[in-house]
Amino acid sequence: AVDIAGLHKSFGPVEVLRGIDMQVKRGEVVCIIGPSGSGKSTLLRCVNLLEEPTAGSVVVNEVELTDPDVDIDAARTKIGMVFQSFNLFSHLNVLNNITVAQIKVLKRGKAEAERTALANLERVGLTGRGTAMPSELSGGQQQRVAIARALSMNPDVMLFDEPTSALDPELVGDVLAVMRRLADEGMTMLVVTHEMQFAREVADRVLFMDGGVIVEEGLSEEVIGDPQEERTRAFLSRVL
Ligand code: ATP
Ligand code: MG
Repeated sequence: AVDIAGLHKSFGPVEVLRGIDMQVKRGEVVCIIGPSGSGKSTLLRCVNLLEEPTAGSVVVNEVELTDPDVDIDAARTKIGMVFQSFNLFSHLNVLNNITVAQIKVLKRGKAEAERTALANLERVGLTGRGTAMPSELSGGQQQRVAIARALSMNPDVMLFDEPTSALDPELVGDVLAVMRRLADEGMTMLVVTHEMQFAREVADRVLFMDGGVIVEEGLSEEVIGDPQEERTRAFLSRVL
């Protein structure tokens, strides 16, 4: 579902991505691990063109996003993104947070948007919280609202950028459980995470990035359990 070839990204003179080739197949869960500053977020942001690549191609669901003629807004509706900071609209209640893009972008009617929102609130374990304001929810609950909001757009791919990094430790498990369930349901997922146990158990494949390149990739068992590259080993010994 995601096919990236020869991807480079520079900010001014600084080359942050230095030639990335990677694929995520339909239904596959791929985790990206690596040290701070290695380019993980930049890579994820290039997948939905929140960052414009300097070179290379990004194809999502057969649509080449790097084609200048593509309708990027339309393509983006099929790509859900969940950030470390939940980015909920603080002045809207939970239900309205989830319906607003469905109504504005997908042109769904209010009733259908609300039905979809309620179904996805149930999916993330937040049945009955539709009238709550974001400030009344814990960080973990807010992040699950953000996931429900992304799911309500019926994405083909979900991108997660360290979705649990901003959470108190006791709230991490609920969010990971929701992601694990999505994976079990067959969602195509690309996940930047420091949660090695999650990566090991849930990911089909793991990519280790350092210095803007993929240093090592393979089955999660291989990369986390038996890394071949010294840089991967050094990183894992610091985080495990
Ligand atoms: P972390 O684990 O800390 O989130 P990361 O692997 O996600 O790190 P990126 O956020 O992709 O790393 O950043 C990679 C490099 O690109 C960093 O050196 C960062 O300073 C630089 N960078 C990212 N965004 C920009 C930008 N908009 N302008 C200039 N430099 C940037
Ligand atoms: Mg990052």
